[in-house]
Amino acid sequence: MEQKKLVTILTPAYNEEDVLPLLYDRLVKLMNEQVNYDFEVLIVNDGSKDHTLELLEEFRKKDSRFNYLNLSRNYGKEIAMIAGLDYCKGDATIIIDADLQDPPELIPEMLHYWEEGYDDVYAKRRSRKGESWLKKSTSKLYYRLLQKTTRIDIQKDTGDFRLLDRRCVEALRAMRESQRYTKGLFSWIGYNKKAIEYDRDPRAAGHTKWNYRRLFNLSIDGFTSFTTAPLRWSAFIGILISFIGFLYMLVIIFNTLFYGIDSPGYASTMVVILFLGGIQLIFLGIIGEYLGRTFSEAKGRPLYFIDRYNETREDNLHLNERKF
Ligand code: UDP
Ligand code: MG
Repeated sequence: MEQKKLVTILTPAYNEEDVLPLLYDRLVKLMNEQVNYDFEVLIVNDGSKDHTLELLEEFRKKDSRFNYLNLSRNYGKEIAMIAGLDYCKGDATIIIDADLQDPPELIPEMLHYWEEGYDDVYAKRRSRKGESWLKKSTSKLYYRLLQKTTRIDIQKDTGDFRLLDRRCVEALRAMRESQRYTKGLFSWIGYNKKAIEYDRDPRAAGHTKWNYRRLFNLSIDGFTSFTTAPLRWSAFIGILISFIGFLYMLVIIFNTLFYGIDSPGYASTMVVILFLGGIQLIFLGIIGEYLGRTFSEAKGRPLYFIDRYNETREDNLHLNERKF
């Protein structure tokens, strides 16, 4: 008999005790229906402060297809995902949120396209139920701006819900940057992509971990990891402003020669100083943003530490084996 392909279902979870039992039921049902594949579920506990870990231990006792990875603290979803990708064993890996906003019922369709030879089958949102107008429109504007400044194709209305072939997983593993913007990395690696459309449900239970501050930080990461265009804009605007300054200088010289010394206005001087001061600070901030990224990447720290993979305690001994 032919060996069945192994599919990993990867879920990052942070304080998801309310929703995990629901996820468990949906996944078990799905895995039992898909008889042509072997499954493993890998749930990454991203330093939850509730009973998420206890639930994961319990799931594993009930069903040995469930695995869990307990990180040493909360690292954020992006890092939780790479940790999971490092530990998944499947021929394909499906990344899915814990909150059931990504319906597991889409997985058979993903598997279908995978069999047809696609390497990255991603779910594209047709609608966004339960999200505010402000969130929708800011995200639209953001993607448009990001797309304009980078050569890689940024996928709109797409989350992290997708099926990745083994080779995509290997490619993502090879990218060890610490300030990860995984959504962009999926595009960056390329390969055969296929979009399937779905209606995004509201969260099944629990609360969103995102707030505007986190989203704002993530969007800055999106820019700084994929484009250096803001640095170029600042140079361009600098040139433009000095050109205007130059023209104004000619006007002043002309006026002084032909009409005598002009009595300078306090208000206009202040406006110019404040305006230019502001522009300079903004551009210093932009440079600082890139410099900061360089700093944190240059440290080359491990992306995360593991407390436990299933019952196995991580003792970090291998960290000292690195040969320089
Ligand atoms: N998540 C995580 N670490 C965090 C924050 C979130 O692993 O620090 C997980 C969370 O458990 C969920 C997924 O990332 O599975 C998406 O989070 P959430 O549903 O809160 O975000 P939203 O869907 O509102 O964008
Ligand atoms: Mg969610």
